[in-house]
Order: sequence, then structure tokens, then C-alpha cells
Amino acid sequence: MEPVLSVENLKKYFPVRSLLRTIAWVKAVDGVSFDIYPGETFGLVGESGCGKTTTGRTILRLIQPTSGRILFQGKDVTKLKGKELLWFRRHAQIMFQDPYSSLDPRQTVFNTIMEPVKFHGIKVDDPEEFVIKLLESVGLNEMHLYRYPHEFSGGQRQRIALAKILALRPDFVVLDEPTSALDVSVQANILNTLKELQKDYGFSYLFISHDLGVVKYMSHRMGVMYLGKLVEVGPSTKIFENPLHPYTQMLLSAIPVPDPEIARELKAKRKMVKGEPPSPINPPAGCRFHPRCPFAKDICRREEPPFVKVEDDHYVACWLYAKS
Ligand code: SF4
Repeated sequence: MEPVLSVENLKKYFPVRSLLRTIAWVKAVDGVSFDIYPGETFGLVGESGCGKTTTGRTILRLIQPTSGRILFQGKDVTKLKGKELLWFRRHAQIMFQDPYSSLDPRQTVFNTIMEPVKFHGIKVDDPEEFVIKLLESVGLNEMHLYRYPHEFSGGQRQRIALAKILALRPDFVVLDEPTSALDVSVQANILNTLKELQKDYGFSYLFISHDLGVVKYMSHRMGVMYLGKLVEVGPSTKIFENPLHPYTQMLLSAIPVPDPEIARELKAKRKMVKGEPPSPINPPAGCRFHPRCPFAKDICRREEPPFVKVEDDHYVACWLYAKS
């Protein structure tokens, strides 16, 4: 099967300026590659500041990439202009984290949903009926048609944002922490709606989150990011059952366990994530995780580990699995 999206060696560096001169670069995304297939959810996880949100926004060209290729349905997104860029903007959408700021407070739900439809020249016979159907498919109804965003709860606003995305019938959606600003019960409802919509419409999702439990529930495959680089990629079930990279192992150890007895036993066995990630302005040489890694050896401080296939489609960048 051909991927919907292929990201190849994507880099995004931000300049650090002083007195109008660039004195350094923040290497937010530094050589990331992965594929997303039709109907698949690819989860991207890591601590805050690891570059996952920048990756999502760069893929959509909300931020211009520094280098690398982004192939969407075979076309290199980094080179699109004019009508082709508009085509891409319609077929690749984003759902933002903050439902309070992602909607225009002066627009009714009807206008919010119809505005991009008109902009992209999509013909609709009966706009009211069209919007009501969309609202119903995300768990709202016609009573909400002419209301304003301030009249809705956070979860309902995310549903409106979802209806707006659905109206354009995209093939690919970046979900950037779509539920992290919501209450837990509302989170579950939105996640289930996203799954149902994927089943009905065949969307491919890039699901960005720092919440590993949510990523496990949502994703078919996932990538773990550390300081601008992917360190492990594979099927979510395999990564949760058998995490290979020491950073992934530490992230999984940090998931809270509700039973205090089990939590005590696990704490004795597992290693917790220690320390803060170093600055992406001047990342450590060799393996970027080496200052925090309990298994670091000499080569880890000198040379960057290659990405190696350990089994089927499970890959890891760590000298514990690569030949030096
Ligand atoms: Fe640890 Fe070395 Fe593997 Fe990096 S390459 S995660 S420092 S063992």
C-alpha cells in the first residue's frame, strides 16, 4: 500500500537573533522520517519541547521547513504553490489543542463551517442541510446552527472544529493534542468520535500527544521523539509491550498506575525519566539522550546511533541494538 504522507529527513531550525545577527539555531526538528498509510493513525509522543508540534505544523506548511521532503499523495508539499498549495490546504487539515482560540468568536457555527467550504469552491445544494448533517455526525444538532462559540463548552467547541474539518473531506488530519485542554470524560467522547469518523471516512491521522495512554488507545503505529529526532518507531502495541529505546522505557515508566501496591512493585523494577532534556540550541554530541541514559557507553558520547530495524516494522536508534 502506498503511504498518504511520507516525511523524509525533515528539518526545521529557528534562528536565535541578537542585534539583528543570527547567533545560533534552535534545532526543533532535526532529520525526522516516517510514513502514514491510508486509514492509519500515527502517534507522535515525547516530552514538551521535543519538536512534535513543530513537526506537525511543518508538514502542513504552517511553518516553512528548513530542508527535507514531505510527499503528500506523491506531490512534494515543500514545492507546492498557487492552486496546488490550495489543493493541499483542502486535503490536509489540523485540529488544534485549544478549542477556545481555534474558532472565530464573531461567527455563528453555520458561518464557521461554511466559510472554508465557500473558499475552496465546494458546491453544496442546501447549505443548511449540509451543515446540520455535519453537526449530527460529530454529536451536535440543528439547535446549535446559529449559536456563537462562547455558548458552547470546550468539548462542544472541539466538535465544531471537527465539523469544520469534515466539511472539506480531507484525506489527512493533524490532531495536535486535541483533547489535552478537556475534562477526562469529554476527552473519551472526542477520541471515540475521532475513531468513528476515521472508520466512516478513511482519514489518516497524525496524532500528537504527550499522553502515552491516549496515544496507545488511538494509534496503530507511533514514533517517539527526543530533542528533535525520532528514537523509536513501530506498531503501538509492540512499543508498549516491548519498548526498546531507554528513553521510551523511561517514558512508559512515568505513566501513573492507580493501584498503590502495583505502583510500588513497578517503581522498584522500573527506571524513571531523570533530569531535564538539554537545550535544542546546542544538543549533546553522539546520542542526544546520553546525558540522561543509564546505559550510555563511550560510543554513545561520540557517534549518533543509526536507525536499525529490530523486528518486522519496529525500528530504534540506539547503540544497544546497532553494530558500531
Ligand atoms: Fe543510551 Fe547509548 Fe542507546 Fe543513547 S545510544 S539511548 S546513550 S545506550
